[in-house]
Amino acid sequence: MKRRDFLGRAGLGAAVGAAACSPSPVPGARVPSRGKKIRWRLASSFPRALDTIFGCAEVFAERLKAMTDGQFELRVHPAGELVPGLQVMDAVQQGTAQVGHTCSYYYTGKNPALAFDTCVPFGLTARQQTAWLMEAGGLQLIHGLFADFGILTFPGGNTGTQMGGWFKNDINSAADLKGLKMRIPGMGGKVMSRLGASVQVIAGGEIYPALERGAIDATEWVGPYDDEKLGFYKVAKNYYYPGWWEPGPSLSFYVNRKAWDSLPKSYQAAFEQAAFASGLTMQNRYDVLNPPALRRLLSKGVELRPFPQDLMDAAKRESQAMLEEEASKDKAYAKIYNHWKSYRTEAFEWFGKAELAYAKAAFGD
Ligand code: CA
Repeated sequence: MKRRDFLGRAGLGAAVGAAACSPSPVPGARVPSRGKKIRWRLASSFPRALDTIFGCAEVFAERLKAMTDGQFELRVHPAGELVPGLQVMDAVQQGTAQVGHTCSYYYTGKNPALAFDTCVPFGLTARQQTAWLMEAGGLQLIHGLFADFGILTFPGGNTGTQMGGWFKNDINSAADLKGLKMRIPGMGGKVMSRLGASVQVIAGGEIYPALERGAIDATEWVGPYDDEKLGFYKVAKNYYYPGWWEPGPSLSFYVNRKAWDSLPKSYQAAFEQAAFASGLTMQNRYDVLNPPALRRLLSKGVELRPFPQDLMDAAKRESQAMLEEEASKDKAYAKIYNHWKSYRTEAFEWFGKAELAYAKAAFGD
């Protein structure tokens, strides 16, 4: 029986769907016995309090369950419950959790090119990143990287362009970054360091006290909705934009390759569709929740400021130089970088016309 028939009949009820026919097995793979539920663990890199990002994994689990008539269930664990937030990749590789929801740029210590699965400074917007991954061949290249770790990945949400963050003092030129103590991880931190800042990496829960006692002068996080929860506006009033280091960071669902191969093909299809749909839900939620959050912050006396032009120019120059340097050192990195760069050039040419002209005319400053 064709899979479409299976899915159609499955809609009539689990008993009918399961009894009518079994989905086609993957050659050589173990297929769950009829009526037996699949129960997997999902390790998230995020705390439950971040309902947008953490919530994406919950939406994913709900959709997957609904699409399989309740037969495929995921238990979603917040950061720290099963493993610490930054060990999700190891947990999926080892099978401690079959599934993970995380950001690949947390793991650039394992392979610097993993950053392209999430975002890089002066890279792609959310739409462009999704297009590159899903339709331009980006995801196949990313899968090549993850094959070394026995993991398969699927895009799983995007925050959209992030904010530049919270600064105790005004930033009037690139020179004001010299010696500035800023919490900013990853490649953005590397670029800030090249611009003279003293970069620190601090976990989410420890940023506020560090900012309050003056251990740091500035911090970035995500955007108005998430930043408001962490309360940075109480100790740093200047809210700068844009977060040029995270123009459209894509999150990822990881799945252990052996576990994946044991799934019926229809469950694999459901997994893929649930990942895509929950990712869109996350992005939509941010686009609904950030505007009123920004209004609330402004009503509390927050000063909204664009980064000065000379800082943006210097940051762009250093970002591009850094990517070129990485590519010159590593052939595998260069392969992905060149593919990505070629798409970025084309996308920027096109988005720089219709989208940018409309944005400036309709909602620009
Ligand atoms: Ca950030």
